[in-house]
Amino acid sequence: MKTTLSVIKADVGSIAGHIKPSDALINAVKDCVKQRVGNLITDFYVGSTGDDVAILFCHNNGTGCEELHKLAWDAFIAGTNKAKEQGLYGAGQDLLSDAFSGNVKGLGPAVAEMEFEERRAEPFLLFTADKTDPGAYNLPLYLGFSDPMHCAGLILSPKIGKGFKFVVMDVEHVESDRTIELNTPEDLYDLAALLRDNERFVVSAIYSRATGEQATVASTTRLHNIAGKYTGKDDPVMIIRCQGDFPATGEILSPYSIGHYVAGFMRGSHTGPLMPVKMGSIISYFDGPPIVSAAGFCVHNGKLTEPVDCFDHPYWDYIRNKVSRKAVAIREQGFSGPAMLDYKELEYGGIVETMKRLEDKFSQ
Ligand code: MG
Repeated sequence: MKTTLSVIKADVGSIAGHIKPSDALINAVKDCVKQRVGNLITDFYVGSTGDDVAILFCHNNGTGCEELHKLAWDAFIAGTNKAKEQGLYGAGQDLLSDAFSGNVKGLGPAVAEMEFEERRAEPFLLFTADKTDPGAYNLPLYLGFSDPMHCAGLILSPKIGKGFKFVVMDVEHVESDRTIELNTPEDLYDLAALLRDNERFVVSAIYSRATGEQATVASTTRLHNIAGKYTGKDDPVMIIRCQGDFPATGEILSPYSIGHYVAGFMRGSHTGPLMPVKMGSIISYFDGPPIVSAAGFCVHNGKLTEPVDCFDHPYWDYIRNKVSRKAVAIREQGFSGPAMLDYKELEYGGIVETMKRLEDKFSQ
């Protein structure tokens, strides 16, 4: 029987601003999901990254299962109710609709799902990021799957060396899913040409060319495309199967040592370096910096191991210090130039009013 991993994530309220969901909120989500172990799902995990709660479901219902999406929706409603009860900030923030309608995709929560035949050993990573958007994974995926400077397996393993198929989505095309498939290594430069634009082109999936097996699935939701206005950043989730015919876990993690600059940070309107953090980390400096955590699991017969916190190692303390310096470096120039996002990215927020007001005051 095939196993499906579905991660569904939302910000439904947090303590003291955009800092962290309360324990009571997280428990409300867990309690709701727990009741369905054995009749809809085989196992689950609930965790938080910054102000977001992510639910990882393990089940046999395939991707896009309405009943499963309904369970996620109900769990986030339970979390929202707890958030309201406690007076948390942004209660129900990411639930952009009043009612569930078949699939949480398009209703606010971020979704990534993958169905596969379990290997004898099935290691995978769950990435959850906060204060950034789906394009944040573009560079680490490019490097982890197609650059031998990070993925030594491209040289050392004949199967990995056959390369990967990247599926890239144009997230500005809101009418339907508009995607392109590019094969590495031969399409590398075309892939780079698209992935340089993190706000428009986003890796949605990656497949092994040696086996056809799916290695990666990532969320592609851009909330402003749903709500038509700024409602929060689109903090992305991603699942990556590792080892065997896929890159090793350490090869996937390696590019996060860069702390590359991404969109997000304060009010989702700035540029900041992506900091690899421990699971459950809070948001702090300038409502950031943008953070990413990686929970490692094995799944067997639909049952998950406990998660291992992949960025909880002394090496990453050194990287976090480096990323902090990068955060300070760009923050020193405040709103000027590349420190703040393009007007195009801000046009869902309040600056539109300011620009309209000033327009009338120009003379020529
Ligand atoms: Mg968030």
